Amino acid sequence: MSGFFKKILIANRGEIAVRIIRACKELGIKTVAVYSTADSDSLHIKLADESVCIGGPFPRESYLNVMAIISAAKLTGCDALHPGYGFLSEKQVLPELCQELGITFIGPRSDVIKELGDKDKAKQLAKKTGIPTVPGAESGVENVEEAYDIACSIGFPVLIKAVAGGGGRGMRIVYEKSEFKEQFSNAQQEVLSAFGDPNVLVEKYIPRAKHIEVQILGDLHGNYVHFGLRECSVQRRFQKIIEEALPHLVSREIQETVARDALKLVRSLGYHCLGTVEFIYDCDDQKHYFLEVNTRIQVEHPITEEITGRDLVKLQIMAGAGAKLPLSQKDITFNGHAIELRVNAEDSVNLLPQSGKVHFYHQPSGFGVRVDSCLFSGAFVSPYYDSLLGKIILWAEDRDQCLKKALWALNEMAVVGVETNQKFIEKILCNEEFVRGTYTTTLVDNLLSGIES
Ligand code: ADP
Ligand code: ADP
Ligand code: MG
Repeated sequence: MSGFFKKILIANRGEIAVRIIRACKELGIKTVAVYSTADSDSLHIKLADESVCIGGPFPRESYLNVMAIISAAKLTGCDALHPGYGFLSEKQVLPELCQELGITFIGPRSDVIKELGDKDKAKQLAKKTGIPTVPGAESGVENVEEAYDIACSIGFPVLIKAVAGGGGRGMRIVYEKSEFKEQFSNAQQEVLSAFGDPNVLVEKYIPRAKHIEVQILGDLHGNYVHFGLRECSVQRRFQKIIEEALPHLVSREIQETVARDALKLVRSLGYHCLGTVEFIYDCDDQKHYFLEVNTRIQVEHPITEEITGRDLVKLQIMAGAGAKLPLSQKDITFNGHAIELRVNAEDSVNLLPQSGKVHFYHQPSGFGVRVDSCLFSGAFVSPYYDSLLGKIILWAEDRDQCLKKALWALNEMAVVGVETNQKFIEKILCNEEFVRGTYTTTLVDNLLSGIES
């Protein structure tokens, strides 16, 4: 028995549920998996100690069904709940209900999640703490005329961003004044149906930018550490595809400043547990600007684990249980280079989500090759959820070797029966800008439109 928790309910599915179950096994904690009727044959159920069916295939019937999840936790005698990422992981209601029922929510306090949940409130908090924010509005607006005036005063291009958005949804780049009103209503429509909140932020769009982010961890005793930065500029529709750590062409001085800013912000909030502070880095003026805080484990956490040699999910669970951080900043050092490739079920031409049965699966392995996935021969890829099947994570002594490893490992992976984005990832890995490290967030769009930037 670990002394942290006895039994954890994992309120998620797919590769992240599997990742969390593995960490629990190492800590000697029992696990309860939850699943929808579409997931009855999934890997996370096979690996957990117990499992509970929580509803139908649509997310709102199961993985977003708070009452079903909380009841499952209570009925199976769980003393803690791990939210994973996506789904309910950043919804205030889950930690609130957990508290009422005496179950520990593995994450920050519900009021902190709420404060950071809206992009405008988070931006105001960052600004108040003295952290640079992207020029533009700091409060969300609902009215198109008001938004138009803000856009004109900022100057084009601007970015329209849903206050409640996430996973790249509700974002629109507007290059010309004449396009603004139409784009604004498109963004607003998308957000209203997805998140039920019509408020939208308008800010300066930074055209030559890198996405950089800081992995932080805090305990309930006021101690904080960071695990360095990641670069996640390879994005399609504002969603990450390839990430690397540490960022290649952002100077160590800047990385230190950004990490310091991230810690300043979480400290000011009394934040505890694992989190990621995201920034956009302007390659032209070499300045960083705050974007948002993700109050949960992130998809790309393994690359940080590879270069620091630390198990972030274990540390997250320990911090969630109220334990004092078992390490200080000087204990965290960076070794070598790591890259993550997100393998999605997508067709190779239009990149549209795919589903179906995986008849055969072979995963790459070897020195410095790690695969976090929910695949196996015979697995069923459901059409109801995110298309992420798993991640290939590479570690090598330097970036050049890591890139070579990424190519052969990617080619070694075989998924038969469901199409994946393997060929598309290969194209990115061979792109000159990517290889040099000079790529920005427009790399994928440029590739798709045939313009090699
Ligand atoms: P990460 O940096 O971990 O990739 P993302 O913001 O891309 O963070 O989100 C992680 C996962 O959660 C993705 O699969 C994404 O599609 C999903 N996601 C994020 N925010 C939301 C949201 N508000 N509603 C539904 N899914 C979301
Ligand atoms: P989400 O919650 O959807 O992850 P973010 O605020 O983190 O929203 O932004 C997602 C992505 O959008 C970033 O990774 C970056 O590529 C792009 N982005 C956000 N703000 C800006 C900006 N002001 N200028 C240029 N790109 C931006
Ligand atoms: Mg983000």
